[in-house]
Amino acid sequence: MFEKLALIGIGLIGSSIARGVRLKGLAKTIAISTRRQETLDEARALGLGDSYSLDPIAAVAHADLVILCIPVQSYGAVMQQIGPYLEVGAILSDVGSVKQHVIREMAPFVPKGVSLIPGHPIAGTEHSGPSSGFPELFTNRWCVLTPAKDADPKAVAKLTAFWSALGSNVETMDPAHHDMVLAITSHIPHLVAYNIVGTVADLETATQSEVIKFSASGFRDFTRIAASDPVMWRDVFLTNRDAVLEMLGRFLTDLGALQKMVESGDGPGLEELFTRTRKIRRSIITAGQETAAADFGRPHGEARVLSGPSGTAEVTSAPVPVVDVNVEVARPVREHGGGDDA
Ligand code: NAP
Repeated sequence: MFEKLALIGIGLIGSSIARGVRLKGLAKTIAISTRRQETLDEARALGLGDSYSLDPIAAVAHADLVILCIPVQSYGAVMQQIGPYLEVGAILSDVGSVKQHVIREMAPFVPKGVSLIPGHPIAGTEHSGPSSGFPELFTNRWCVLTPAKDADPKAVAKLTAFWSALGSNVETMDPAHHDMVLAITSHIPHLVAYNIVGTVADLETATQSEVIKFSASGFRDFTRIAASDPVMWRDVFLTNRDAVLEMLGRFLTDLGALQKMVESGDGPGLEELFTRTRKIRRSIITAGQETAAADFGRPHGEARVLSGPSGTAEVTSAPVPVVDVNVEVARPVREHGGGDDA
């Protein structure tokens, strides 16, 4: 499909792409670049690519597909470096969790003849680094592409085929719409999780230990989300501020209404709301975005669809460790520091 794929950044997402590309033969060669020697050595030891460099310019040379897999606040500096060296005819994409900001950061450095097609695979775990990736990360997950209106349709089709081959369902979207949808489905839930777990962290030691001891209830799910990568999530809130604040305003209004219902003992009101929210959970399961097991993605060994050698779907019933967020997936991972789907 591609002659040379250049991955700038080789953490959870970059390494999952590398593994998927290898498995499906989507590029003849994979060039890997990352910021630190330690990460480069880890990627090399894992055999994720064909060439390795700390210099992103070396990686993008003659690449017909370049994907930025780095924190969104670092795009500007990297684009400034690689922009002049992008190959005419190449597709330049990314995996960043916010889209309007990254387009502002990337577009000024894109030379004529290079197609900028930003992307966001809505799949992740709370782990980071090259060892945490796995090729099925994108299987049956959405990947949103946000091409400009005048983007080359052939390039959009080619990148769509690439993500489809990695197992994703691909949708194109306006970048502003993407940022609003993700603010409510991903960014606010993370903010709430950070807040709840942060509140517990501030409790007196005695109460805190009881919270940890009895965390089998909802709190445990929040701690997993709140273990997500601090840098990545700092960037999300700094770069999708308007959409997050808009949705947060709405959330706080609704929370105030809920508080009043509890205060006034409004049983029918509470029941009506909880009935509506239960329906949303069920519709997510029906849409195949979650399993019926009420563990929100912790290991539950359910059947999983994998892509077979001929591209056909195969079902395995082997127990599979599944990690999730509002989206997620499975794989053997070592704790690394954490990034969660965004
Ligand atoms: P990760 O595992 O922490 O890997 C980050 C990569 O970016 C590493 O190669 C790291 O290099 C490099 N990097 C970090 N800071 C940098 C900087 N200032 N300049 C240049 N390179 C830098 O992160 P990830 O989870 O793969 O996330 C990467 C991107 O994917 C982010 O934009 C995120 O928004 C997006 N995303 C993440 C998820 C998720 O669940 N994690 C889901 C969807 C999209 P060194 O290790 O060499 O420092």
